[in-house]
Amino acid sequence: MSHPQSFAVFGHPISHSLSPHIHQAFAQQFGMALDYRTIDVAPEAWVDAVRHFFQEEGGRGANVTLPHKHAAFALADERTQAATRAGTANVLTRLADGRLAAHNTDGAAMVRDLTERHDLDLRGHDALLLGAGGAARAVAWSLFEAGVQTLTIVNRSPEAADALADAMGEPARVHTRYWEDLGNIGSFDLIVNATSAGTLDQSLSLPFSLIASRATCYDLGYAKAAFSFLAWARAAGARYAHDGLGMLVEQAADAFELWHGKRPDTESVYQLLKAQSV
Ligand code: NDP
Repeated sequence: MSHPQSFAVFGHPISHSLSPHIHQAFAQQFGMALDYRTIDVAPEAWVDAVRHFFQEEGGRGANVTLPHKHAAFALADERTQAATRAGTANVLTRLADGRLAAHNTDGAAMVRDLTERHDLDLRGHDALLLGAGGAARAVAWSLFEAGVQTLTIVNRSPEAADALADAMGEPARVHTRYWEDLGNIGSFDLIVNATSAGTLDQSLSLPFSLIASRATCYDLGYAKAAFSFLAWARAAGARYAHDGLGMLVEQAADAFELWHGKRPDTESVYQLLKAQSV
């Protein structure tokens, strides 16, 4: 059976994804009926599943999460600049001619959450980015473009941090340091945890000396995945400590607008999810 205008989120695992709830809440704002489902598929079956969805099931758009973001970028026929910079895609859209476009809205979503929801003016900040995976790469460019004064990238595997800094090509403002040196690289106004440690039930061992007075800490993870980093941030004296729930809602809004041409209200959905996660 074909489904006109189907939408989905692909991941593995995916059963706990909030994306279906978020997209249905957005659709309700416009009185739309939305066919949006979760598709759990292992990496080896991913390409076939995506082709089937878009070619046989009326697929119009898909959100993509771990572990498929690199594969989504590779599969697409065309890619936005943000996706190309990140090397990953979190949104796929079927174009009118049937080809697939890859987008990466993670970086813009994170910066919008910080600057608009949490009222932070990033200009002039010294920012520390922990991690250099797909999400970190997206976030690095967006933080830079939002005007941070310096961006220091530290990754457990230093090569990935160096590759990101090299790709950005801004040696006066973007630097890398070794993870082992976190205790003696000074303090930062903004510390972003873009590692997947929390999602993997691992905790980072971070020195309190990283936190400048009035610092903001931000974990891309949310709910349980962010507990450990945010607890460290508060114990170390951070002025603000935010999880990535707002980023999740913002990136969903970007996908919704790409697919439906309408901008949903994110704040009501964010507040609802936040209340449910307490
Ligand atoms: P990747 O797998 O691409 O990258 C993982 C990163 O985490 C790498 O830099 C890796 O370092 C680092 N890492 C993993 N474990 C540890 C550890 N124990 N100590 C130190 N570093 C570690 O993942 P993504 O970039 O796609 O995602 C990162 C996180 O961001 C995930 O938790 C994901 O859920 C979250 N996220 C949230 C979004 C939202 O909307 N809120 C959107 C996108 C992502 P190394 O290179 O050394 O392996």
